Amino acid sequence: MTRPAHPALAAFVAQLGDEFLFAQVLVRRSGGGFELCHTDDAAAAAEALRLVAVEALRELALTTETGAFRPLKSAPTLRRGWRAKAMDAHSLEAALNHLYPGGLADWFAALGENPGATHYREFTGRQTGMYRITAMLNDAQAASVIRACCDARFCLKRRLWTVAGLEPDAASTPSVVPCLEPCAVFLEFARKAARLEQEDRLAVSIGAGELETLLEALAAGAAAADANRREADFGDAANPRRMQLLWEKLRGLHVEKEKAEGH
Ligand code: SF4
Repeated sequence: MTRPAHPALAAFVAQLGDEFLFAQVLVRRSGGGFELCHTDDAAAAAEALRLVAVEALRELALTTETGAFRPLKSAPTLRRGWRAKAMDAHSLEAALNHLYPGGLADWFAALGENPGATHYREFTGRQTGMYRITAMLNDAQAASVIRACCDARFCLKRRLWTVAGLEPDAASTPSVVPCLEPCAVFLEFARKAARLEQEDRLAVSIGAGELETLLEALAAGAAAADANRREADFGDAANPRRMQLLWEKLRGLHVEKEKAEGH
């Protein structure tokens, strides 16, 4: 006897249409079931893609193309070159949960008026031990950390939680997979950011043009980061999120200066 789909799964299947993009995974109806592949392989011939079992998707999602560990399954680094067949809705759910753990349930929660997001203050307020320091970031600092950590270059989830002064991500950007509370990678990054804020300040004098160069260099550095660099190693001064965070802070100075000069 066929198991009935639970409400989240039933709603997901009902709105699929012929195909549906779930972060980097394209889901297509195929016969009575579904076929999944990387969205960049949408036009590839079936024979050109390796057929993998649904159960093998968990392992596939563990590493990038170059073999680097993926601590964040919603990072835009899902491997290409595969396809998987899901024979029914339950198999499809298993496949999506291997690739984006909890993504389908969160997607369903986000359809409602109150998806139950846990915002920065509530989340950090209940941290203990070495993560309590994250509550010490003020709203502006926390907003910079959020913008840097959750940038679409690093994570494809649509952030629904926030902190005062920062809007949640707009609908369907950067994907339909929602983020309902800060993740472990974020928490570690916020801890590092709070530690950096506690360091002695240096009085550095630079001109507007030099600041522009610094901003360009940081943006280029974050964009060109080596895919093998450990994504969540925030002790690494050249970690792309750390570069992005410094860019956020310096850009704030740049904007303030332009305002003061009436631009
Ligand atoms: S907290 Fe940010 S980085 Fe972590 S899953 Fe959510 S949106 Fe992505």
